[in-house]
Amino acid sequence: MAKSKYEYVKQFERDYFLIPNTWLVIRIDGRGFHQFSDRHQFEKPNDRRALDLMNKCAEAVMIEIHDIILAYGQSDEFSFILKKECNLYGRREAKIISTIVSLFTSNYVFHWKKYFPDKELHYPPSFDGRAVQYPSDNNLRDYLSWRQADCHINNLYNTCFWALVHSGKTEAEAENTLRGTSSSDKNELLYSSFNINYNDLPEMYRKGSILIKQEVDFKALNQNEVEVIRKKNVVMITNVDIIRNKFWEEHPELKL
Ligand code: ATP
Ligand code: ATP
Ligand code: MG
Ligand code: MG
Ligand code: MG
Ligand code: MG
Repeated sequence: MAKSKYEYVKQFERDYFLIPNTWLVIRIDGRGFHQFSDRHQFEKPNDRRALDLMNKCAEAVMIEIHDIILAYGQSDEFSFILKKECNLYGRREAKIISTIVSLFTSNYVFHWKKYFPDKELHYPPSFDGRAVQYPSDNNLRDYLSWRQADCHINNLYNTCFWALVHSGKTEAEAENTLRGTSSSDKNELLYSSFNINYNDLPEMYRKGSILIKQEVDFKALNQNEVEVIRKKNVVMITNVDIIRNKFWEEHPELKL
C-alpha cells in the first residue's frame, strides 16, 4: 500500500523492550477496589465469590497467553510469571501489559454474573498493570514470597479488623485496638475474644491462589473417526505455601 504523507507521525512512537532472558512478572491490581468492594457489598474480610472470579479471569489469561507458566493472586491483584525465553510481541512492554490487563478486565465483566448471580454490576471495574524483570531465579522466588507474605500480613490484620467491627466496634475503634500489635498479639486476640484459630481459616484466604498449567491426556477422534489420546494444558489452582522449597521441589517443570 502506498504511504500517505501522514505516515511520518509513526516515528514519534517509542517502545520499551523488556530485557532478554529475564523472568517477566506482570502484576495487575484492581483500581479503587476498596470502593468497588463496598459498592458491591463484598463479604468482609474475604468474599469467596470475588476471589473465585479473580481466579477465573487469571485462568482465562493463562490459557490465552502461552508464555505464562504460573500466576499468583490475592485480594484484588494477580501476578503473571512469563518464562525467560518469552518473545511475546518481541518483548514490547506496553503490548504485553496492555494485552494482559485488558484480557483480565474483560473476563471480569464477562464472568461477573456467574459468580454474583444476585448482584448487578454497578459500574465498569478497571485494573492497572506493571511489568517487572527479574534476572535470577532467586529474585523471582523472593518476589513470590513477598506477595505471599503480604497476603498473610493483610489477611491477619483484616480478619482482626472485621471481627472487631462485626462485634460492634466502629472502624476507628478497631483501628485503634490494632495499632502497634504484633502478629502473635493478633492471633491471641482472635483466639481469646472470638474463638477463632487463625490457622483454621481457609488456605485460600491465608495463602492466596497459585495457578499452574498441567498437561493432561484427553480422548479425541482423528480424521478416520478413530479414538486417539491427545494432550492439552489445563490450569490447576492450589493454595499452598510457596515460600518454602516443598512446592518448587514438587514442580520441577517450573524450573525454579
Ligand atoms: P488502588 O487503586 O490504589 O489499588 P484499592 O482501593 O484497590 O486502591 P488495594 O490496596 O488494592 O486498594 O486494596 C484492595 C481492597 O479491595 C482491599 O483492601 C479490600 O478492601 C478490597 N477487596 C479486594 N478483594 C476482596 C475480597 N475478595 N473480599 C473483600 N474485599 C476485597
Ligand atoms: P493485531 O492484534 O496485530 O492488532 P488485528 O487483527 O487486530 O491484529 P488490525 O490491524 O488491528 O489487526 O486490524 C483490525 C481488523 O479488524 C481490521 O482489519 C478489520 O478486519 C477488523 N475490524 C475492526 N473494526 C471493524 C469494523 N468496525 N467493521 C469491520 N471490521 C472491523
Ligand atoms: Mg494499587
Ligand atoms: Mg487495588
Ligand atoms: Mg490490591
Ligand atoms: Mg488490532
